[in-house]
Amino acid sequence: MLDQYGRNIDYLRISLTDRCNLRCIYCMPEKGVVKKCHEDVIRFEEVLKIIKAAVPLGIKKIRYTGGEPLILKNISSLIKETSEIDEIKDIAITTNGILLYDLVEELKEAGLNRVNISLDTLKEDKFKHITRGGDLNKVLKAIEKCISVGIKVKINTVLMKGINDDEIKNFIEHTKEIPVEVRFIELMPIGEGEKLYKTSFMSSSEVLDKFPELIPLESSKSSTASMYKLNGAKGKVGFITPLSCKFCSDCNRIRLTSMGTIKPCLHSAKEIDLKESLNDEVLLESVLKDVIYNKPSQHNLEYDSKSQSLKMMYQIGG
Ligand code: SAM
Ligand code: SF4
Repeated sequence: MLDQYGRNIDYLRISLTDRCNLRCIYCMPEKGVVKKCHEDVIRFEEVLKIIKAAVPLGIKKIRYTGGEPLILKNISSLIKETSEIDEIKDIAITTNGILLYDLVEELKEAGLNRVNISLDTLKEDKFKHITRGGDLNKVLKAIEKCISVGIKVKINTVLMKGINDDEIKNFIEHTKEIPVEVRFIELMPIGEGEKLYKTSFMSSSEVLDKFPELIPLESSKSSTASMYKLNGAKGKVGFITPLSCKFCSDCNRIRLTSMGTIKPCLHSAKEIDLKESLNDEVLLESVLKDVIYNKPSQHNLEYDSKSQSLKMMYQIGG
């Protein structure tokens, strides 16, 4: 369905939980988050109801994220049930990759097409520091396995000056031999990222200036990344620039948070609680229709230096 600015909204991102098995320095407080009551967190059957109500409005792509979606038991059954909805043409997850290795086959079998894996460093000690305790090898093994079974892999790397900017070359060179898309994401001033933003923000253009060998590629209109490639490389390099060059005019997505609210824009304060409409299919569809039509034209992150979002990244899912 088109929103009032003519954007075709066909993509629903769903944060299934605000819990996580890591504590990345730009995302989660060191001590974790206060555990929510069971009733406050969206349940799988509610998620499926919302997807089914969104399908007649033109939603075709689903991404499950979190928190960490793979800590949830039965995630494969949710993916399977989602894949049984005919109109859904693409199912992806965003994960930190820690629990992925053992789940790869069953997720593929269930209908998973693509996976985005967050990876900000290729050094073991630094990985432990950034994630506050994670094991890099588990993620690297999972990436290899996904590629070997034919699941498309994108690696999400948050750019942080003074933390991982010394590894940008290694990430880019990784794409020479491995068919992955490495996507550098500008650090956003949201949640824990707000403190780090002041000292460690690095724009994509700073990186591009240092790597003139990256050849620009055509990217699809709704893609949030501008794409590049090294000559002869198997993989690609993308830049996601929510601050330095925002992509709001081509934004095609809405987000369901782990608390059951819909966010039409990642960085706006606007949220609509769906819990009240879950038992009435007609009402649910009409609330979603209204949300899509009235999606804000853009965020103002670059002027505010602070997200207006009332939810944190681990509740929205990025
Ligand atoms: N736990 C999963 C993961 O890490 O991939 C999914 C949820 S995580 C919130 C989704 C994405 O948001 C990750 O790629 C993460 O790097 C990104 N992210 C979290 N906080 C961020 C921030 N302040 N700025 C930029 N990206 C951020
Ligand atoms: Fe967890 Fe993902 Fe946030 Fe890291 S970025 S703390 S893995 S939700």
